[in-house]
Amino acid sequence: METDQLLAVAFIALIAAASVYFKLLKTSGAFAAFVTGLLVWIGFGINGLLLMGIFFLTSSLLSRYKRKKKEELGEIHEKGSARDWVQVAANGGTGAIAGLANFIEPNFIWLIMFAIALASANADTWASELGVLSKKQPMSVKAFKRVPRGTSGAVSGFGTLASVAASLLIATSAYSLFEIEPAWVFGIFFGGMAGTALDTLMGAYFQAGFKCAECGLHTEKTVHCAKITEKVSGYAVINNDAVNFLSCFTAAILGMIVYMVL
Ligand SMILES: [Zn+2]
Repeated sequence: METDQLLAVAFIALIAAASVYFKLLKTSGAFAAFVTGLLVWIGFGINGLLLMGIFFLTSSLLSRYKRKKKEELGEIHEKGSARDWVQVAANGGTGAIAGLANFIEPNFIWLIMFAIALASANADTWASELGVLSKKQPMSVKAFKRVPRGTSGAVSGFGTLASVAASLLIATSAYSLFEIEPAWVFGIFFGGMAGTALDTLMGAYFQAGFKCAECGLHTEKTVHCAKITEKVSGYAVINNDAVNFLSCFTAAILGMIVYMVL
């Protein structure tokens, strides 16, 4: 390996290790982030790492933002704020696949896949992390009624605004980092928004929802009050991570189809 390649690998490892130190990632999450970083780097170079870094840094900081207030909602979210490998794979998996694909067979279509997956992951994370702080309770897209903050499959005005800003940030950053036609700034932006919409719909209709037999709480947790909870909606195999992966992946595929048709 050449010196600059060694430096890049060391840089990715350093970011992954620092993320554990700052409790942004669990150890398994850091390993997944390292592998994801490597695949993005071999596929899209330093600029690819920068684009992914924008997602990673802003999402991590937002999940730290007003943590106390979010802890009150901890009863609903299945996991804490330090991401494990499944969460990293759910949000970064599609981008990693695109990186590997572009390394093997360079083509602009993989950049579309990569950027839309990131825009979707960023939009969804910003919407979740900021949406829970909304003054109004979010609206369930299935029941059309107000539900507790942090519930999957629900939207708030504030959360939607956050996802627009998040998707736009990735689209414009991709434009400044790569040789992309201006029209694709809109393509990436709408791809990211489609991903968030898919995330909400899948969260509402497919994601497993549970109820605690002990205290009656509706939750995403499989265990509550030290007891196994009862599934009351959705499919058991589809948790929040599965929904995140599927929404990013599907949005990216839709963008690739649009690219091939045009
Ligand atoms: Zn309970």
